[in-house]
Amino acid sequence: AGTVTGPMVRAWIEKSAEVLAENRKYLTELDSPIGDSDHGNNMDRGYKAVVEKLPEGDDIGAMLKSVAMSLISKVGGAAGPLYGTMFLDGSKPLIGKTVVSGEELAQFFADAINGVKKRGRSDVGMKTMLDALAPASDAFRAEFAKDGDMPASLKAAAAAAKQGMEATIPMQAQRGRASYLGERSIGHQDPGATSSYLILQAFSDAVEE
Ligand code: ADP
Ligand code: MG
Ligand code: MG
Repeated sequence: AGTVTGPMVRAWIEKSAEVLAENRKYLTELDSPIGDSDHGNNMDRGYKAVVEKLPEGDDIGAMLKSVAMSLISKVGGAAGPLYGTMFLDGSKPLIGKTVVSGEELAQFFADAINGVKKRGRSDVGMKTMLDALAPASDAFRAEFAKDGDMPASLKAAAAAAKQGMEATIPMQAQRGRASYLGERSIGHQDPGATSSYLILQAFSDAVEE
């Protein structure tokens, strides 16, 4: 099918929380050489609050807005406000919708990414979460345009996010704490690009199941 339903979005959010809990140490280890060793704890704490506060019902926009509000209120530092803005800006056109089309989901990704860019004054190539999110958004749109297969399109998005995450290794950071290291940020995978990949992989897994 070519749509995403309310229960699928709920499953995505719950799976994201599980995967971020499982990868808490890994994300924090990635944040140790080029940051302050808290990214795993930030995301795990944030998503625990997300699941706790998630509203009942199938309103997709309401669920995604709630994710945003929980992340903004529970996660300090860079990632909380950035992921919060991402979900908040993405959620707005989806308020009241219990089913979302591929076109609407493509718009969600675009709005979400623009929110991060504006809030972070950042763009692709600066060694941030955008380096996973933007290629994923492009891959989703391209794959969905082929034959409107939602699971295949989300799988393509997750695969592109993984590649984008790996592509942050040789980059020199230009935003966030890692940028303070200058050239010494080269050779390390960006923690935020990694959590973005995990969240997109959780989306693919939740819709496939
Ligand atoms: P903090 O750096 O405040 O401790 P986290 O460790 O939770 O926050 O998150 C760090 C991640 O946030 C980075 O790996 C990067 O992906 C992302 N990030 C930081 N600054 C920006 C920005 N200006 N734009 C986009 N992403 C950013
Ligand atoms: Mg950190
Ligand atoms: Mg911090």
